[in-house]
Amino acid sequence: MIPPRFEYHAPKTVGEAVALLGQLGSDAKLLAGGHSLLPMMKLRFAAPEHLIDINRIPELKGIREEGGTVVIGAMTVENELINSPVLQAKVPLLCEAAKLIADPQVRNRGTIGGDIAHGDPGNDHPALSIVIDASFVLEGPNGRRTVAADGFFLGTYMTQLEENEVMCEIRVPALAAGTGYAYEKLKRKTGDWATAGCAVVIRKSGDQVSHVRVALTNVAPAALRVEAAEAALLNKPFNAANVQAAVDAAIAACDPAEDLRGDIEYKTAMAGEMVKRALNKAWSRCA
Ligand SMILES: Cc1cc2nc3c(=O)[nH]c(=O)nc-3n(C[C@H](O)[C@H](O)[C@H](O)COP(=O)(O)OP(=O)(O)OC[C@H]3O[C@@H](n4cnc5c(N)ncnc54)[C@H](O)[C@@H]3O)c2cc1C
Repeated sequence: MIPPRFEYHAPKTVGEAVALLGQLGSDAKLLAGGHSLLPMMKLRFAAPEHLIDINRIPELKGIREEGGTVVIGAMTVENELINSPVLQAKVPLLCEAAKLIADPQVRNRGTIGGDIAHGDPGNDHPALSIVIDASFVLEGPNGRRTVAADGFFLGTYMTQLEENEVMCEIRVPALAAGTGYAYEKLKRKTGDWATAGCAVVIRKSGDQVSHVRVALTNVAPAALRVEAAEAALLNKPFNAANVQAAVDAAIAACDPAEDLRGDIEYKTAMAGEMVKRALNKAWSRCA
């Protein structure tokens, strides 16, 4: 319950935050919503000597449209995602799925950027960001770079984010008209992390699948895009046999950790079930 002592910093710009990260090095941590970092500090799993609070940086907040792209500030909290008319119209998967993350109080503090940057395989935004083809804008001492969500998640608590970088924006192409989407999350109770989860985005052309993305939550060291499951469906009819082939491919890709949510066999089977449900739900929403 008692976190270790630390120095507190509250920069007003991303530039100042990046400079502090450079100055303080690995003794410093960015503080966003604090709903993963502070719990870890209270249990003394993390003991940074400096916290750089990025809550007072206006440029990290808000949701806006730039042409066909929705730009979400990294410090946007989950409840803002749920209530955003722009996201409801352009990327409704995020609004729907954010309701499955944590609980109302946590969703008033926890940010989309923090959820992604944390690199926890149990978090929901990593798989979601992969299926919506999101990219992340990261600012470091040499300026900004943009990296795709697909490939960003390297392992448990490991991402492409460098120690001296701040995630500034999450950029998401608006879902094309008629796109089907779903996030199926098996959990023990409301507010718990997934035992297994599956995010799907799919488009149809007649009875054929013309675009599909499948990504899994909490059944591997990091969020996992399953390209073999996508290949089982792409440019093919959406039927039970092809869905089963996608499910089998997803099951083959799983590498879950055994814990109180279940053993490897159970989690893998549940991942398959979530894939099946998510595919069927997403397909039923295609137009
Ligand atoms: C009871 C409870 C239940 C929860 N259930 C779920 C759940 O079901 N699904 C889920 O996805 N999450 C869940 N969470 C986690 C929650 O969504 C966290 O808020 C989230 O994981 C981290 O976001 P944050 O803004 O709180 O980040 P913080 O805790 O402040 O930071 C997390 C990490 O990310 C880094 N970081 C944060 N922002 C940036 C940035 N902009 N640039 C670079 N690095 C950054 C920090 O330095 C830190 O290392 C739960 C949390 C609680 C307490």
